Amino acid sequence: MDFTLIPICYDNEHIMRYKHKEDYYCDICNKQGVSYCCDNCDYYRCRNCHRDLLAEEEIKERLRLSKLKNEFKLAELNLKNDNLEDWEVMISDGEILYINKLTKTYSYDYPLYISPSLSDREIKTHNDDRVRCTFTELLNTIKSFF
Ligand SMILES: [Zn+2]
Ligand SMILES: [Zn+2]
Repeated sequence: MDFTLIPICYDNEHIMRYKHKEDYYCDICNKQGVSYCCDNCDYYRCRNCHRDLLAEEEIKERLRLSKLKNEFKLAELNLKNDNLEDWEVMISDGEILYINKLTKTYSYDYPLYISPSLSDREIKTHNDDRVRCTFTELLNTIKSFF
């Protein structure tokens, strides 16, 4: 995973840029001389505060990712234990997603338990019906030629 973070001010849409200004004061520690300025508002940070904030963000991001990884593994294990073989776990936008491989649908909630043998039987019966129907139709079509 890529940990590259865009430095931002308190507003998530604002991007901090490196710009050294000796006559400005840091908005965090009030020290004179700043190294980063917000592109969109009057917000300034000195080099030390900026570095500390980025480090903090990176730690948070790492924690979030490792937590997500654990949840992902747990979800896979749960599906296996519940014999939900038609379901697959995916991560989308930092959230756990359950994909049904048969119906091609997805759910943010853990799928409800459906007996795999029951759903197999339903699909088979359905297919048999369709084949029988098509066969009768075909026979009728052939008959109509004579
Ligand atoms: Zn500072
Ligand atoms: Zn800003």
